[in-house]
Amino acid sequence: MKSEFKKDDCVTLHIEDIGTGGEGIGKADGFTFFVKDAIVGDVIEAKIMKLKKNYGYARLMKVLTPSKDRVEPKCPVARQCGGCQIQEMRYEAQLAFKQKMVQNNLERIGGLSDFEMYPVIGMETPYAYRNKAQFPVGEDKDGNIVIGFYAGRTHHIVEQTDCCIGAPENGEVLRKVKAYMQKNQIRPYNEEHHSGIVRHILIRTGYHTKEIMVCLIVNAAKASCLKNAEQLTESLREMDGMTSVMVNFNTEKTNVILGKKSEVLWGQPYIEDFIGDVKYQISPQSFFQVNPMQTEKLYAKALEYAGLTGNETVWDLYCGIGTISLFLAKNARKVYGVEIVPQAIEDARNNAKRNGIDNAEFFVGKAEEVVPAFYEKALKQVQDSEAGKSIHPDVVVVDPPRKGCEEILLETIVKMQPQRIVYVSCDSATLARDLKFLSANGYAVKKVQPVDQFGHSVHIETVVLLSQLK
Ligand code: SAH
Repeated sequence: MKSEFKKDDCVTLHIEDIGTGGEGIGKADGFTFFVKDAIVGDVIEAKIMKLKKNYGYARLMKVLTPSKDRVEPKCPVARQCGGCQIQEMRYEAQLAFKQKMVQNNLERIGGLSDFEMYPVIGMETPYAYRNKAQFPVGEDKDGNIVIGFYAGRTHHIVEQTDCCIGAPENGEVLRKVKAYMQKNQIRPYNEEHHSGIVRHILIRTGYHTKEIMVCLIVNAAKASCLKNAEQLTESLREMDGMTSVMVNFNTEKTNVILGKKSEVLWGQPYIEDFIGDVKYQISPQSFFQVNPMQTEKLYAKALEYAGLTGNETVWDLYCGIGTISLFLAKNARKVYGVEIVPQAIEDARNNAKRNGIDNAEFFVGKAEEVVPAFYEKALKQVQDSEAGKSIHPDVVVVDPPRKGCEEILLETIVKMQPQRIVYVSCDSATLARDLKFLSANGYAVKKVQPVDQFGHSVHIETVVLLSQLK
């Protein structure tokens, strides 16, 4: 199709659909435009930014008639900041969008039809829910320190220290770090020149314990780069709940935020928090679910779907610091956990010990390497009843990162023949792909439960129960 449109033209669009990144989709003269910050039901004026053969990108200039789902975002920089994508959408509409996205992916990518899908479990108040934030630190053109968030798809830092989905304490922590940096002339990191010191500030908070960890990620190999660090720790310690002040070393030219090594400046090298009645130790590097209230609901579902009575053998793959493993261990005979980050496994083992759990065993490595190797080895020792039980578990739980599971892992899971597979997913497209494989190999998708862990973003967590076909 040849369009008459040119870059910088203004068009009037009726937004009729929403893309996977939360952008509004509208048509003009049969030509499709994607518009960030526009939502279904809006009539808008938009300026064309980029034209492709039969679609284009446009910038929202003016809302002519607002959608019934449009609300005023709570955050003043909601449009610039890349953290949230759909804050201008009523929360109930966000949930409906996510529900539909999961359903569509399972049907279209997964080719699934015969499953029970439950309404998404949403948050009561979708604000101040995150227990972890990583703020980039940089400088403006006049050399002033800027702390905030990256604008969408760029490394331009939007100043924002009081993010409304983050912990309320974050703002005070950031002001204290900034004051310390200014007083001691500690430069923020400059990505372009790979110079300067402070790259990011990581803050973790315990939802139940109210403990706080502050970790400065520095472009240096030694903590002495933070001169007069006691001024920083003294100031941070004035805050209730301050438990851990750390420094993490990252001298690489990389987008990866944390380096491999950390050191304590003051306090403990971790904070603690509860999920249900299990207490967890959390280090700077460890993965821990970011929304503690919703995580309890998510894990309760995973536990329900695992259907444990106390006699079961369970594998928990991608176990992080053993969060799900320990939750399950209380109701199972034995749990095996696998995780790629060694520090997380160290935390998992400590967490087991500290909670008096002695029926959980953990392995470091890639699930797609550890599990097949374990399976092959144990197959040779089947006369040993523990080996037999370990490779023919009752339940396998997987909770992979966004890219989902490698096929070799899914193949091994199928060979292990668990009665049930519980798939916890943070990306419904890769979930659908993996469910397609499992459905073609002896498992039926029974139940699908989305849980909203990430209000105002386009992300959604989903728990799925699969049963072995007899
Ligand atoms: N189940 C945990 C963690 C889930 S997040 C929880 O609920 O807290 C996914 C985890 O998978 C992360 O801890 C990540 O470090 C780990 N991971 C990523 N790739 C992996 C792989 N190939 N093998 C094993 N673990 C992996």
